[in-house]
Amino acid sequence: MNSGEAADRIEVRWARVRGRLRSEVGEAAFKSWLKPLTLRQIDGDVVRLSVGTRFMRDWVASHYGDRLRELWREEDATIGSIEIAVEDVLDGQDGGTAEPLRARAAVPSAPGFTRHEPVRRSVGSPGEIPGEIIHRDIGAPLDPRFTFENFVVGKPNEMAHAAALRVADATTLPFNPLFLYGGVGLGKTHLMHAIAHRISSRKPDKRVIYLSAENFMYRFIRAMRYKDTMSFKEQFRAVDFLMIDDIQFFSGKDSTQEEFFHTFNALVDENRQVVISADKPPFDLQRMEERLRSRLGWGVVADIHPTTYELRLSILQSKAEQMRVDMPPKVLEFLAYKISSNVRELEGALNRIVAHSELVGREITLENTQELLHDLLRASDRHITIDEIQKRVAEHFNIRLSDMHSPRRARAVARPRQVAMYLAKQLTTRSLPEIGRKFGGRDHTTVMHAVKRIDQLRATDASFAEDIDLLRRMVEG
Ligand code: ADP
Ligand code: MG
Repeated sequence: MNSGEAADRIEVRWARVRGRLRSEVGEAAFKSWLKPLTLRQIDGDVVRLSVGTRFMRDWVASHYGDRLRELWREEDATIGSIEIAVEDVLDGQDGGTAEPLRARAAVPSAPGFTRHEPVRRSVGSPGEIPGEIIHRDIGAPLDPRFTFENFVVGKPNEMAHAAALRVADATTLPFNPLFLYGGVGLGKTHLMHAIAHRISSRKPDKRVIYLSAENFMYRFIRAMRYKDTMSFKEQFRAVDFLMIDDIQFFSGKDSTQEEFFHTFNALVDENRQVVISADKPPFDLQRMEERLRSRLGWGVVADIHPTTYELRLSILQSKAEQMRVDMPPKVLEFLAYKISSNVRELEGALNRIVAHSELVGREITLENTQELLHDLLRASDRHITIDEIQKRVAEHFNIRLSDMHSPRRARAVARPRQVAMYLAKQLTTRSLPEIGRKFGGRDHTTVMHAVKRIDQLRATDASFAEDIDLLRRMVEG
């Protein structure tokens, strides 16, 4: 066999690996993350891949590294690891910090995601989904964007998501009620609308009603005023799925609670699905009748936890894609890092940046993002410690924290260490000898040298400079 044939075989294998990944992760994720990968060569037992940016490399390695390796091993059992390098580094720039990442078993998959479906993102066009549910008369209109396809799943919401999907797809009632709870802006309403959309498109004969607790009360009070409670009851009791959002609103509203309790029981007795959301678990709901509280907890109680960095990043990624804007990955990382309160604020920030850039016709950069969001970001004047800097820099460059103190001089660890020293000098009031001591007892001249070297690199390599600025902002938190 000549080498041309060997190369062909490798191409064929690579095509198969890609094909399988594509079907596993879906078109959107494939296009964003896996398609840009280039197969460089196979070197002994190492498959060498490359990709355009460090961010892409880190993402692909942590989310798909293990799976890539498994799939390669199915093609060729002698493959031991996958290495992903950053293209401009391969092409000869000084960027010693961008060592290729190896996907051995040791590369952690990002904690926040389901294994083979790490980033589920928008695929369907929202236009396909009916904007309103069948019973316009009593249900509230649905937001066409709040679909399962547009819901990004990560560790904090995977339980709630799975339970919601189960309710929507089940042929017999899996549990009753489904009680979703969590803080503001974490996706409760989104999931409820998603259930309604899915049922109305897949089981159009089912009657689904979604409405807020407030709306429920309003209708109930109006029915009483017009002495029409009979038809009120009938309307609600004739549905297959009843979803009431933000039930904490019923606190202290005794007669509404009472009415709801009866409706609820009637539906459950008839095997109709009830879905409830609130900002607290049932037993924590204040001024709520005990029998109602306990009844609400009979089915599945699923909480949505506060978002993680990984989840925020993939939500941003997904929204940017839906808006068809090209956001620099660094800006997305920055937002995901800085705006940790809830998804609504995250979306708000993204919208603001996109709207502004469209209005003034300016490219989106890290600098103007920071300017534009200064009120949201409000840099706190807190004390930055060398330990924090070391930790953050080690994370950023994927090296061990202990390498900050170790005598190792390999560039893969030496350069990040220099970056950390540089930031320590910039962001703390520590003296050079003090900084040196925090880095495994190094001499102050070593620190001085590091600061100079990083300054030089910043001056000659724009992408390196940008990287350092990003790190700096992250440390400044
Ligand atoms: P809640 O009802 O819990 O206060 P919402 O469901 O209204 O929160 O969510 C607030 C916003 O954040 C919505 O625009 C929603 O689409 C978005 N959102 C929340 N979680 C996610 C997620 N996991 N994926 C995509 N968008 C999300
Ligand atoms: Mg809500």
